[in-house]
Amino acid sequence: MTIRKVLTTPDKKLRSRSRELTMPEMKSAKTKELITDIYETLNDGEYGVGMSAIQVGEPLAITVVMIRPTPNRPNLNYYNQVYFNLKILKTFGEKKPMWEGCCSVLDDNGNLLYAKVPRYERIKVKYCNEIGEICTATVDGFLAHVLQHEIDHINGILFTDLIPITNIVSQEEYRKAQKSGY
Ligand SMILES: [Zn+2]
Repeated sequence: MTIRKVLTTPDKKLRSRSRELTMPEMKSAKTKELITDIYETLNDGEYGVGMSAIQVGEPLAITVVMIRPTPNRPNLNYYNQVYFNLKILKTFGEKKPMWEGCCSVLDDNGNLLYAKVPRYERIKVKYCNEIGEICTATVDGFLAHVLQHEIDHINGILFTDLIPITNIVSQEEYRKAQKSGY
């Protein structure tokens, strides 16, 4: 088990498109080790609720979701899931702006940056689970939000690509906005 270095912008690797895993790769010891490392890396910080393999430098379509209460969202319920080859099959309704940050997008002092990013409130996804079973699921709320952010990572997209640069705020400004109910 190793806490990995999280790549941050402008690292070009974050822009790579991750490739899908084969069934034997999903079950390999090497993949299991990488997943354990991603969990450890997420646990090492207090804000992250999801991380894709490219964020630790591996261009593979692996996403680990570890929803938990965070300083910004203290009321979240715990939810862990590994997603291989995650993709959106269908979206429902219109996009709605939702606050998000990313462990790979920091300011010069190493603090997370935030913005309200348009995301679908409900999506249907396809993926393979940790034991390689092909699954589909319709998810909504915060999990739908997190999965859209992670699918973007798999495709080399960061949340800062989806909004005007002037909409990006510091942690402090984000907290103020939250308190004022924005
Ligand atoms: Zn991210």
